[in-house]
Amino acid sequence: MLEIHGLNAWYGESHILHGVDFEVREGEVVTLLGRNGAGKTTTMKSIMGLVPRRAGHVKFRGAEMIGLMPNQIARAGIAICPEERGIFGSLSVTENLMLPPIVAPGGMGIDEIYTLFPNLKERARTAHGTRLSGGEQQMLAIARILRTGAKMLLLDEPTEGLAPVIVQQIGRTIREIKKRGFTVLLVEQNFHFAATVADRHYVMEHGKIVDMIPNHLLESSMDKLHEYLGV
Ligand code: ATP
Repeated sequence: MLEIHGLNAWYGESHILHGVDFEVREGEVVTLLGRNGAGKTTTMKSIMGLVPRRAGHVKFRGAEMIGLMPNQIARAGIAICPEERGIFGSLSVTENLMLPPIVAPGGMGIDEIYTLFPNLKERARTAHGTRLSGGEQQMLAIARILRTGAKMLLLDEPTEGLAPVIVQQIGRTIREIKKRGFTVLLVEQNFHFAATVADRHYVMEHGKIVDMIPNHLLESSMDKLHEYLGV
């Protein structure tokens, strides 16, 4: 579904991605693991067209995304949930859900969203974005991109800073999204969490993919992973 070959990216003069190669097949959940600064977020932003200068190939359903604007990439069916979540703090949960960036055919209706996220339903009218907990904000951010009609979701560190019980909820949500046929590329620092949701893991170092680990081999690759991630 998503094929990335020789992806390079720059911020000004800084050359950040040096020929990234990987693929995500339809219906898979795939993670990008790696130390801080390895280039995971830059890879996600490059796929979405949010990095000013990039080269190489990002093919989505066979069509080249390099050279397209972010809004065109969104219309092709890719959506990003950035680390900073992008919630409107002054708006209620429902209002946030009524304002997705783009609603393409196939975008989830509000009722379906509330079935998938019962916690959000409870908070629908009362809570404004700023009054939501970190976990609720993350759920709302994921719910918003499901509204867009995208079938390929890019989630950047959805568990960052969240309590273990909330991390488990996010895990359940991602597994449910996968069951519904969505494809997910996930940036994660927490590989114990990654193991509960993903089919495969790519490891990034210095702006390149250096390894691919199928999920069933993750446990037995822990020594190698600790070395990669420096933990
Ligand atoms: P983290 O978990 O810390 O976000 P990451 O693997 O996602 O790590 P990136 O955020 O992609 O890493 O950063 C890769 C490199 O690009 C880092 O050296 C970072 O300092 C640099 N970088 C990121 N954003 C910018 C920017 N807007 N301008 C210049 N350099 C940047």
